[in-house]
Amino acid sequence: MSAKRDYYDILGVAKTATAVEIKKAYRSLALKHHPDRVAPDKKEEAEEQFKEISEAYAVLFDEQKRVLYDQYGHVGIDQKYTSEDIFRGGDFSGFENIFGSIFGDMGSDIFGGRGSSGRRSGRGRDLQMAMDVSFEDAARGTTKSIKVPRYEACNTCQGSGAKPGTKRKTCSQCKGKGQVVISSGFFRMAQTCPSCRGEGSSISVFCPSCRGEGRTKKTRKLEVKIPAGVYTGASLRIKGEGEIGVRDSGDLYIELNVLEHAKFIRRDNDIICEIEISMVKAVLGGEVEVSTLDGNVSMKIPAGTQPGKIFRLRGKGVPDLHSYAKGDELVKVKVVIPTSLSMQQRNLLEQFS
Ligand SMILES: [Zn+2]
Ligand SMILES: [Zn+2]
Repeated sequence: MSAKRDYYDILGVAKTATAVEIKKAYRSLALKHHPDRVAPDKKEEAEEQFKEISEAYAVLFDEQKRVLYDQYGHVGIDQKYTSEDIFRGGDFSGFENIFGSIFGDMGSDIFGGRGSSGRRSGRGRDLQMAMDVSFEDAARGTTKSIKVPRYEACNTCQGSGAKPGTKRKTCSQCKGKGQVVISSGFFRMAQTCPSCRGEGSSISVFCPSCRGEGRTKKTRKLEVKIPAGVYTGASLRIKGEGEIGVRDSGDLYIELNVLEHAKFIRRDNDIICEIEISMVKAVLGGEVEVSTLDGNVSMKIPAGTQPGKIFRLRGKGVPDLHSYAKGDELVKVKVVIPTSLSMQQRNLLEQFS
């Protein structure tokens, strides 16, 4: 990509140009480079130029963006605004006759962009993150500390975006009224001033720490309680830990992924495991050690236990996330048939059969 050209150069105006001069310059350039007015083989080039002059106009006509551009150049604009936000500042009213169908054709390019930031709604955006949880922690619950990056109000300017000690300047478009009157033929109506968006004034010098953003990225450490019974796909909502908004903070959503266990398989709230017992124990019965999530327990094997038999250890499973119910541990018995026998063992078995 070639370096971006200076907005003033693009419009051919002086750094001191007034909003009226900027609008005038844009009007004549827009007419000249309108893609519908050039030969078909020049159309693509004209569209590029048209976009370039429209962007320059949108920034320089908007007092706030112009100050930011004067202070930080393209970097300041590109870091703070999406392409959609850039064009929102331009006063394109009165240009409809020039544009003709161009809004239809190029609208998605010029006005689409990366989508709205949601910063204007007053509520901060929700944040999302993913987290792996061990099988045991999911079953028994735990507390984990996590690091969450989010934007917080800039310390230097307290979120205002203006350099401390500097005064806002009155909007030259509306003279501070926040509204402008537009007229088209006999039709006159008041409209929110496009240059200051109705605020009547704008920042004169941007905060050097946040470049007018009013916020900076900070990483916070949070203690997150993971309740017993969570499962893969379960989502924890941590209220107010999303991005900070003007009125309210968004929420933080943590999507959980429960890791597999070497011994246990989970089926809903039950956990399943397999134990091996000797052929003799299966026939005569006895005691076996069985692992559970809370340590080993001793389990009785009745005489005559068949291979594949499942025993149920009540309440040794996973508690239900939404009730007081608790799952069980299901112990599947695998009977090991000996592959080599001593002479004596062989004789005994032959007698038995
Ligand atoms: Zn700041
Ligand atoms: Zn204004």
